[in-house]
Amino acid sequence: MKIRVGVNGFGTIGKRVADAVARQPDLELVGVAKTRPSFEARRAVERGYPLYVAGSAGPEKFAAVGLPVVGRLSDLLGKVDVVVDATPEEVGRENRALYRAAGVRAIFQGGEEADVAEASFNALANYAACRGKRSLRVVSCNTTAIARAAAVLLPRWGVDHWEVTLVRRASDPGESKRGPVDGIVPTLEMPSHHGPDARTIFPELSIATTAVVVPTTLMHVHVNHVRLSRAPTGTGELLEAFRSTPRFHLFAPWEGVDGTPQVMEYARNRAGFSGVPTTDLVENVVWEAGVRVDGRDAHFFQAIHQESIVVPENVDAIRAMFDLCDGPTSVARTDQALGLVRPAGPGTPRAAPGGPARRRR
Ligand code: NAD
Repeated sequence: MKIRVGVNGFGTIGKRVADAVARQPDLELVGVAKTRPSFEARRAVERGYPLYVAGSAGPEKFAAVGLPVVGRLSDLLGKVDVVVDATPEEVGRENRALYRAAGVRAIFQGGEEADVAEASFNALANYAACRGKRSLRVVSCNTTAIARAAAVLLPRWGVDHWEVTLVRRASDPGESKRGPVDGIVPTLEMPSHHGPDARTIFPELSIATTAVVVPTTLMHVHVNHVRLSRAPTGTGELLEAFRSTPRFHLFAPWEGVDGTPQVMEYARNRAGFSGVPTTDLVENVVWEAGVRVDGRDAHFFQAIHQESIVVPENVDAIRAMFDLCDGPTSVARTDQALGLVRPAGPGTPRAAPGGPARRRR
Protein backbone atom coordinates (compact mmCIF):
# COMPACT_ATOMS: atom_id res chain seq x y z
CA MET A 1 0.00 0.00 0.00
CA LYS A 2 1.30 3.45 -0.89
CA ILE A 3 1.82 6.16 1.73
CA ARG A 4 -0.69 8.93 1.03
CA VAL A 5 0.93 12.36 0.95
CA GLY A 6 -0.47 15.91 0.96
CA VAL A 7 1.58 19.04 0.36
CA ASN A 8 0.53 22.23 2.11
CA GLY A 9 2.15 25.34 0.59
CA PHE A 10 2.74 25.09 -3.12
CA GLY A 11 5.56 27.57 -3.69
CA THR A 12 9.25 27.14 -4.48
CA ILE A 13 9.76 24.05 -2.34
CA GLY A 14 6.21 22.67 -2.21
CA LYS A 15 5.71 22.38 -5.96
CA ARG A 16 9.02 20.58 -6.35
CA VAL A 17 8.28 18.20 -3.48
CA ALA A 18 4.86 17.46 -4.99
CA ASP A 19 6.46 16.63 -8.35
CA ALA A 20 9.03 14.40 -6.66
CA VAL A 21 6.42 12.58 -4.53
CA ALA A 22 4.28 11.99 -7.62
CA ARG A 23 7.19 10.12 -9.23
CA GLN A 24 7.83 7.72 -6.32
CA PRO A 25 6.56 4.16 -6.71
CA ASP A 26 5.67 3.77 -3.02
CA LEU A 27 4.08 7.20 -2.42
CA GLU A 28 0.82 8.71 -3.62
CA LEU A 29 0.34 12.46 -4.00
CA VAL A 30 -3.24 12.92 -2.79
CA GLY A 31 -3.38 16.68 -3.24
CA VAL A 32 -1.82 20.07 -2.67
CA ALA A 33 -3.12 23.08 -0.74
CA LYS A 34 -2.86 26.74 -1.70
CA THR A 35 -4.14 29.89 -0.04
CA ARG A 36 -4.99 31.77 -3.21
CA PRO A 37 -5.21 31.40 -6.98
CA SER A 38 -1.90 32.03 -8.77
CA PHE A 39 0.15 30.71 -11.65
CA GLU A 40 1.30 28.01 -9.26
CA ALA A 41 -2.29 26.97 -8.45
CA ARG A 42 -2.89 26.79 -12.18
CA ARG A 43 0.23 24.65 -12.54
CA ALA A 44 -1.13 22.23 -9.92
CA VAL A 45 -4.39 21.87 -11.82
CA GLU A 46 -2.60 21.48 -15.15
CA ARG A 47 -0.50 18.69 -13.67
CA GLY A 48 -3.60 16.94 -12.44
CA TYR A 49 -2.87 17.46 -8.74
CA PRO A 50 -6.12 17.75 -6.75
CA LEU A 51 -6.17 21.30 -5.36
CA TYR A 52 -7.35 22.18 -1.85
CA VAL A 53 -7.82 25.59 -0.23
CA ALA A 54 -5.62 26.47 2.76
CA GLY A 55 -6.19 29.45 5.04
CA SER A 56 -9.27 31.61 5.27
CA ALA A 57 -9.95 32.22 1.56
CA GLY A 58 -13.06 30.59 0.16
CA PRO A 59 -13.12 28.14 -2.74
CA GLU A 60 -15.13 30.74 -4.68
CA LYS A 61 -11.91 32.74 -5.23
CA PHE A 62 -10.53 29.79 -7.17
CA ALA A 63 -13.84 29.11 -8.92
CA ALA A 64 -13.95 32.74 -10.06
CA VAL A 65 -10.80 32.23 -12.14
CA GLY A 66 -11.77 28.79 -13.35
CA LEU A 67 -9.55 26.71 -11.06
CA PRO A 68 -11.41 23.67 -9.72
CA VAL A 69 -10.81 22.89 -6.05
CA VAL A 70 -11.62 19.62 -4.36
CA GLY A 71 -12.06 20.93 -0.81
CA ARG A 72 -10.34 22.61 2.10
CA LEU A 73 -7.06 21.75 3.79
CA SER A 74 -9.02 19.93 6.50
CA ASP A 75 -10.49 17.65 3.80
CA LEU A 76 -7.01 16.94 2.46
CA LEU A 77 -5.76 16.15 5.95
CA GLY A 78 -8.57 13.62 6.29
CA LYS A 79 -7.25 11.67 3.30
CA VAL A 80 -3.50 11.53 3.92
CA ASP A 81 -1.02 9.71 6.14
CA VAL A 82 1.47 12.58 6.12
CA VAL A 83 1.54 16.23 5.16
CA VAL A 84 4.62 18.01 3.86
CA ASP A 85 4.36 21.58 5.09
CA ALA A 86 6.16 23.90 2.67
CA THR A 87 4.59 27.14 3.80
CA PRO A 88 6.69 30.25 4.54
CA GLU A 89 8.84 30.47 7.68
CA GLU A 90 6.88 30.26 10.93
CA VAL A 91 3.60 29.35 9.22
CA GLY A 92 4.54 25.70 9.58
CA ARG A 93 4.65 26.07 13.34
CA GLU A 94 1.16 27.63 13.28
CA ASN A 95 -0.07 24.70 11.19
CA ARG A 96 1.32 22.11 13.58
CA ALA A 97 -1.84 22.07 15.70
CA LEU A 98 -3.99 21.39 12.61
CA TYR A 99 -1.88 18.39 11.69
CA ARG A 100 -1.91 17.05 15.23
CA ALA A 101 -5.68 17.44 15.48
CA ALA A 102 -6.09 15.58 12.19
CA GLY A 103 -3.81 12.81 13.44
CA VAL A 104 -1.47 13.03 10.46
CA ARG A 105 2.30 12.97 10.53
CA ALA A 106 4.06 16.13 9.39
CA ILE A 107 7.27 17.17 7.72
CA PHE A 108 8.39 20.78 8.16
CA GLN A 109 11.03 22.80 6.34
CA GLY A 110 14.23 24.49 7.44
CA GLY A 111 12.63 27.91 7.85
CA GLU A 112 11.06 26.62 11.07
CA GLU A 113 12.94 26.45 14.34
CA ALA A 114 14.28 22.98 15.11
CA ASP A 115 11.80 22.32 17.92
CA VAL A 116 8.87 22.37 15.49
CA ALA A 117 9.43 18.63 15.03
CA GLU A 118 10.75 15.62 16.92
CA ALA A 119 14.00 15.65 14.94
CA SER A 120 15.88 17.46 12.19
CA PHE A 121 16.52 15.26 9.17
CA ASN A 122 19.06 14.63 6.47
CA ALA A 123 18.98 11.41 4.48
CA LEU A 124 22.73 10.75 4.33
CA ALA A 125 23.36 11.91 7.89
CA ASN A 126 20.68 10.65 10.30
CA TYR A 127 17.99 8.66 8.47
CA ALA A 128 18.25 5.77 10.94
CA ALA A 129 17.64 8.03 13.95
CA CYS A 130 14.49 9.43 12.30
CA ARG A 131 12.77 6.12 11.57
CA GLY A 132 9.29 5.96 13.00
CA LYS A 133 9.05 9.63 14.05
CA ARG A 134 5.70 11.39 13.78
CA SER A 135 7.20 14.75 12.83
CA LEU A 136 10.45 15.72 11.14
CA ARG A 137 12.06 18.92 9.95
CA VAL A 138 14.10 18.80 6.76
CA VAL A 139 16.92 21.24 7.43
CA SER A 140 17.48 24.25 5.17
CA CYS A 141 19.29 24.18 1.84
CA ASN A 142 22.60 25.32 3.32
CA THR A 143 22.39 22.99 6.30
CA THR A 144 21.45 20.09 4.01
CA ALA A 145 24.62 20.73 2.03
CA ILE A 146 26.75 20.85 5.18
CA ALA A 147 25.10 17.72 6.59
CA ARG A 148 25.75 15.77 3.40
CA ALA A 149 29.40 16.80 3.39
CA ALA A 150 29.66 15.96 7.09
CA ALA A 151 28.25 12.52 6.31
CA VAL A 152 31.21 12.05 3.95
CA LEU A 153 33.91 13.43 6.26
CA LEU A 154 32.94 12.30 9.75
CA PRO A 155 32.83 8.51 9.39
CA ARG A 156 36.02 8.39 7.30
CA TRP A 157 38.38 10.81 9.03
CA GLY A 158 36.52 12.59 11.85
CA VAL A 159 36.35 16.38 12.09
CA ASP A 160 38.30 18.38 14.67
CA HIS A 161 37.01 21.73 13.44
CA TRP A 162 35.29 23.09 10.33
CA GLU A 163 35.10 26.70 9.11
CA VAL A 164 32.56 27.48 6.39
CA THR A 165 31.97 30.78 4.64
CA LEU A 166 28.59 30.77 2.95
CA VAL A 167 28.17 33.02 -0.06
CA ARG A 168 24.40 33.18 -0.20
CA ARG A 169 22.12 34.02 -3.10
CA ALA A 170 20.04 37.15 -2.57
CA SER A 171 16.71 35.70 -3.69
CA ASP A 172 15.24 32.82 -5.64
CA PRO A 173 14.86 33.52 -9.39
CA GLY A 174 11.09 33.85 -9.10
CA GLU A 175 11.20 36.44 -6.31
CA SER A 176 11.10 40.16 -7.09
CA LYS A 177 10.93 41.67 -3.61
CA ARG A 178 14.26 40.66 -2.08
CA GLY A 179 17.80 41.82 -2.51
CA PRO A 180 20.39 43.13 -2.57
CA VAL A 181 20.45 43.89 -6.29
CA ASP A 182 23.85 45.50 -5.79
CA GLY A 183 26.38 45.23 -2.99
CA ILE A 184 27.45 42.51 -0.59
CA VAL A 185 25.64 42.19 2.72
CA PRO A 186 27.52 40.43 5.52
CA THR A 187 25.49 38.50 8.06
CA LEU A 188 26.92 40.12 11.18
CA GLU A 189 25.58 37.46 13.53
CA MET A 190 28.49 35.12 14.25
CA PRO A 191 28.33 32.28 13.87
CA SER A 192 25.56 32.46 11.31
CA HIS A 193 22.64 30.22 12.22
CA HIS A 194 23.86 27.48 9.86
CA GLY A 195 26.50 26.09 12.23
CA PRO A 196 24.10 25.66 15.16
CA ASP A 197 21.57 24.24 12.71
CA ALA A 198 24.07 21.62 11.52
CA ARG A 199 24.45 20.62 15.18
CA THR A 200 20.75 19.71 15.32
CA ILE A 201 21.90 16.71 13.25
CA PHE A 202 25.51 16.33 14.47
CA PRO A 203 25.43 17.61 18.08
CA GLU A 204 29.18 17.12 18.59
CA LEU A 205 30.32 18.78 15.37
CA SER A 206 32.75 21.65 15.87
CA ILE A 207 31.74 24.02 13.10
CA ALA A 208 31.80 27.79 12.68
CA THR A 209 29.85 29.41 9.86
CA THR A 210 29.91 32.95 8.52
CA ALA A 211 27.75 34.24 5.70
CA VAL A 212 27.50 37.04 3.16
CA VAL A 213 24.60 37.67 0.80
CA VAL A 214 25.43 38.57 -2.79
CA PRO A 215 23.32 39.72 -5.77
CA THR A 216 22.72 36.41 -7.50
CA THR A 217 19.71 34.12 -7.74
CA LEU A 218 21.32 30.95 -9.09
CA MET A 219 22.98 29.18 -6.18
CA HIS A 220 24.81 29.44 -2.88
CA VAL A 221 28.54 28.67 -2.73
CA HIS A 222 30.26 27.38 0.42
CA VAL A 223 33.99 27.78 1.03
CA ASN A 224 35.08 25.01 3.41
CA HIS A 225 38.22 24.58 5.51
CA VAL A 226 38.17 21.46 7.63
CA ARG A 227 40.74 20.21 10.16
CA LEU A 228 40.16 16.46 10.06
CA SER A 229 40.98 14.16 12.98
CA ARG A 230 42.90 11.75 10.77
CA ALA A 231 44.67 12.57 7.52
CA PRO A 232 43.39 11.11 4.24
CA THR A 233 46.08 9.69 1.99
CA GLY A 234 45.72 12.77 -0.17
CA THR A 235 43.37 14.83 -2.29
CA GLY A 236 42.47 11.80 -4.38
CA GLU A 237 40.98 9.97 -1.41
CA LEU A 238 38.70 12.89 -0.56
CA LEU A 239 37.69 13.26 -4.20
CA GLU A 240 36.85 9.58 -4.40
CA ALA A 241 34.76 9.84 -1.23
CA PHE A 242 32.67 12.65 -2.74
CA ARG A 243 32.46 10.85 -6.09
CA SER A 244 31.19 7.63 -4.57
CA THR A 245 28.52 9.31 -2.42
CA PRO A 246 25.00 9.79 -3.80
CA ARG A 247 23.83 13.39 -4.24
CA PHE A 248 27.28 14.75 -5.00
CA HIS A 249 28.04 15.99 -8.48
CA LEU A 250 31.68 16.61 -9.33
CA PHE A 251 32.88 18.74 -12.21
CA ALA A 252 36.28 17.88 -13.67
CA PRO A 253 38.63 20.72 -14.62
CA TRP A 254 38.36 19.95 -18.35
CA GLU A 255 34.59 20.57 -18.29
CA GLY A 256 35.14 24.32 -18.19
CA VAL A 257 32.73 24.96 -15.33
CA ASP A 258 34.10 28.21 -13.92
CA GLY A 259 31.22 28.96 -11.59
CA THR A 260 27.50 28.78 -10.92
CA PRO A 261 26.43 30.04 -14.40
CA GLN A 262 27.85 26.92 -16.04
CA VAL A 263 26.61 24.69 -13.22
CA MET A 264 23.02 25.76 -13.81
CA GLU A 265 23.50 25.66 -17.58
CA TYR A 266 24.56 22.03 -17.11
CA ALA A 267 21.36 21.42 -15.12
CA ARG A 268 19.23 22.99 -17.85
CA ASN A 269 20.92 20.85 -20.49
CA ARG A 270 20.72 17.67 -18.38
CA ALA A 271 16.95 17.96 -18.16
CA GLY A 272 16.86 17.69 -21.91
CA PHE A 273 18.65 14.37 -22.31
CA SER A 274 19.16 12.40 -19.14
CA GLY A 275 15.74 11.50 -17.74
CA VAL A 276 16.08 14.05 -14.93
CA PRO A 277 12.68 15.71 -15.16
CA THR A 278 13.62 19.26 -14.17
CA THR A 279 16.25 21.92 -14.63
CA ASP A 280 16.99 21.67 -10.92
CA LEU A 281 20.20 20.38 -9.42
CA VAL A 282 19.57 18.53 -6.19
CA GLU A 283 23.16 17.41 -5.67
CA ASN A 284 26.02 19.11 -3.79
CA VAL A 285 28.20 20.44 -6.58
CA VAL A 286 31.95 20.07 -6.05
CA TRP A 287 34.68 21.40 -8.33
CA GLU A 288 37.42 18.76 -8.48
CA ALA A 289 40.05 21.42 -9.05
CA GLY A 290 38.92 23.17 -5.86
CA VAL A 291 39.42 20.15 -3.60
CA ARG A 292 42.71 20.02 -1.73
CA VAL A 293 44.09 18.00 1.15
CA ASP A 294 47.21 19.06 3.09
CA GLY A 295 47.82 16.56 5.86
CA ARG A 296 44.75 16.79 8.09
CA ASP A 297 43.49 19.98 6.41
CA ALA A 298 40.83 19.57 3.74
CA HIS A 299 39.61 22.44 1.58
CA PHE A 300 36.73 22.40 -0.87
CA PHE A 301 34.04 24.54 -2.44
CA GLN A 302 30.49 23.37 -2.92
CA ALA A 303 27.64 25.00 -4.83
CA ILE A 304 24.06 24.53 -3.72
CA HIS A 305 20.90 24.95 -5.78
CA GLN A 306 18.77 26.34 -2.99
CA GLU A 307 15.44 25.72 -4.68
CA SER A 308 15.86 21.97 -5.06
CA ILE A 309 18.51 20.45 -2.77
CA VAL A 310 15.97 19.65 -0.04
CA VAL A 311 13.49 17.99 -2.41
CA PRO A 312 14.84 14.41 -2.31
CA GLU A 313 15.35 14.81 1.44
CA ASN A 314 11.62 15.43 1.89
CA VAL A 315 10.88 12.21 0.04
CA ASP A 316 13.34 10.23 2.17
CA ALA A 317 11.94 11.82 5.33
CA ILE A 318 8.57 10.28 4.48
CA ARG A 319 10.12 6.83 4.10
CA ALA A 320 12.02 7.22 7.36
CA MET A 321 8.83 8.20 9.22
CA PHE A 322 6.93 5.18 8.01
CA ASP A 323 9.98 2.94 8.32
CA LEU A 324 9.55 1.77 4.73
CA CYS A 325 13.20 0.84 4.25
CA ASP A 326 16.71 1.78 5.36
CA GLY A 327 18.41 5.03 4.39
CA PRO A 328 20.60 3.86 1.50
CA THR A 329 17.61 2.02 -0.02
CA SER A 330 15.45 5.13 0.24
CA VAL A 331 18.11 7.40 -1.26
CA ALA A 332 18.59 4.99 -4.16
CA ARG A 333 14.83 4.66 -4.70
CA THR A 334 14.30 8.41 -4.62
CA ASP A 335 17.19 9.14 -6.94
CA GLN A 336 16.14 6.42 -9.37
CA ALA A 337 12.64 7.90 -9.57
CA LEU A 338 14.10 11.38 -10.08
CA GLY A 339 16.29 10.14 -12.91
CA LEU A 340 19.52 10.87 -11.05
CA VAL A 341 20.92 7.35 -11.22
CA ARG A 342 22.52 6.63 -14.53
CA PRO A 343 24.33 3.44 -15.46
CA ALA A 344 28.08 4.08 -15.36
CA GLY A 345 28.91 3.85 -19.04
CA PRO A 346 32.35 3.21 -20.42
CA GLY A 347 32.13 6.59 -22.09
CA THR A 348 32.01 8.58 -18.85
CA PRO A 349 35.33 10.42 -18.87
CA ARG A 350 36.88 11.22 -15.52
CA ALA A 351 40.56 12.00 -15.91
CA ALA A 352 41.54 15.54 -16.80
CA PRO A 353 43.34 15.45 -20.15
CA GLY A 354 45.35 18.57 -19.53
CA GLY A 355 42.36 20.77 -18.78
CA PRO A 356 41.97 24.38 -19.80
CA ALA A 357 44.56 26.84 -18.61
CA ARG A 358 43.66 28.52 -15.33
CA ARG A 359 42.70 32.17 -15.67
CA ARG A 360 43.65 34.57 -12.93
CA ARG A 361 41.19 37.27 -11.96
P1 NAD B 1 7.50 30.23 -1.01
O1 NAD B 1 7.08 31.57 -0.53
O2 NAD B 1 8.11 30.10 -2.35
O3 NAD B 1 6.27 29.24 -0.94
C1 NAD B 1 5.40 29.18 0.16
C2 NAD B 1 4.00 28.92 -0.35
O4 NAD B 1 3.13 28.77 0.77
C3 NAD B 1 3.44 30.06 -1.20
O5 NAD B 1 2.79 29.49 -2.32
C4 NAD B 1 2.43 30.75 -0.27
O6 NAD B 1 1.36 31.33 -0.99
C5 NAD B 1 1.95 29.55 0.53
N1 NAD B 1 1.35 29.88 1.83
C6 NAD B 1 1.49 31.01 2.57
N2 NAD B 1 0.78 30.90 3.71
C7 NAD B 1 0.19 29.68 3.69
C8 NAD B 1 -0.69 28.99 4.57
N3 NAD B 1 -1.08 29.51 5.73
N4 NAD B 1 -1.12 27.76 4.21
C9 NAD B 1 -0.74 27.20 3.04
N5 NAD B 1 0.08 27.81 2.17
C10 NAD B 1 0.54 29.04 2.49
O7 NAD B 1 8.47 29.66 0.12
P2 NAD B 1 9.56 28.55 -0.08
O8 NAD B 1 10.82 29.17 -0.58
O9 NAD B 1 8.99 27.39 -0.81
O10 NAD B 1 9.86 28.17 1.44
C11 NAD B 1 9.07 27.24 2.15
C12 NAD B 1 9.88 26.68 3.29
O11 NAD B 1 11.02 26.01 2.75
C13 NAD B 1 10.43 27.73 4.27
O12 NAD B 1 10.50 27.15 5.55
C14 NAD B 1 11.83 27.97 3.76
O13 NAD B 1 12.70 28.46 4.73
C15 NAD B 1 12.21 26.56 3.30
N6 NAD B 1 13.27 26.51 2.30
C16 NAD B 1 13.31 27.38 1.26
C17 NAD B 1 14.35 27.31 0.35
C18 NAD B 1 14.48 28.27 -0.78
O14 NAD B 1 15.60 28.54 -1.21
N7 NAD B 1 13.42 28.81 -1.32
C19 NAD B 1 15.31 26.32 0.47
C20 NAD B 1 15.21 25.39 1.51
C21 NAD B 1 14.19 25.50 2.43
